[in-house]
Amino acid sequence: MPNWLTNFVLPKIRAAVSRKEVPDNLWRQCPSCEQTLFLKDLTADLMVCRHCGHHFRLGSAERFKMLFDDAVFEKIELPKAAVDPLKFRDRKRYTERLRESQAAMGAGSEAIAVAAGRIGGVGSVIAAFDFAFMGGSMGIAVGEALVSASRLAVEHQAALIVIPSSGGARMQEGILSLMQMPRTIIAADMVKEARLPYIVVLTDPTTGGVAASFAAIGDIAIAEPGAVVGFAGARVIEETIREKLPEGFQRAEYLLEHGMVDMVVKRAELTATLARLLKLLCEPVLLPATATAHPA
Ligand SMILES: [Zn+2]
Repeated sequence: MPNWLTNFVLPKIRAAVSRKEVPDNLWRQCPSCEQTLFLKDLTADLMVCRHCGHHFRLGSAERFKMLFDDAVFEKIELPKAAVDPLKFRDRKRYTERLRESQAAMGAGSEAIAVAAGRIGGVGSVIAAFDFAFMGGSMGIAVGEALVSASRLAVEHQAALIVIPSSGGARMQEGILSLMQMPRTIIAADMVKEARLPYIVVLTDPTTGGVAASFAAIGDIAIAEPGAVVGFAGARVIEETIREKLPEGFQRAEYLLEHGMVDMVVKRAELTATLARLLKLLCEPVLLPATATAHPA
């Protein structure tokens, strides 16, 4: 029988207990400082919180628009990889998980996208991960994409910039996903052997088999502020070594202090930084006209 308890008290309790929903299309809540941000402002700020500087995750499409000169680029069609070679299923079939991700992110999409264009005038190929697609996990398709990106860079004498955002190997592909680790190392080596720049921009998170393969061997390793970069999770390491890990462990700033990354660059400065580096690495150093030879 309805009384004041069900009519009045219960709804109040329900309202207090249920999390306040922030409308998804207009506002975002910063996971770091919990301030509510107007999505339009946040987009204008390249998805960086204007209160605390937290860098939100960015998809490949936004990365391409942000980094290529005048947002002009050509998206590269990637080779089709074998789908579900192990016929894997956990709570759901792997094919079903793939279908769901592709329904959300566009037909034929994967955890990585590749595009070519110019950065600061220098011909560049960017391979950027989409964390939203199965945690940016690396399976055969991602390995295939990185090989394609490397080949394209070598073919066009362009720089290769890889932007990982990944939980690691894709468990649904078992050993085949682990085989992408040496494979992507070989891909990066092709670019290095051609004496072209290979730059890695480590973004949150870069972990597992991705952190332990191509992402670790950039000629220059840049990281976005606050990005978690590491092989095993902090909790797993703590449980294994039975020791408390230092403050900020596996964060970009900690890794910079310990020589694991070369620079931590704010997103707003990333395009200019890449342009400057590519110029330094690609343009021939011209001697002043007054220079003379001094034979021994
Ligand atoms: Zn914030």
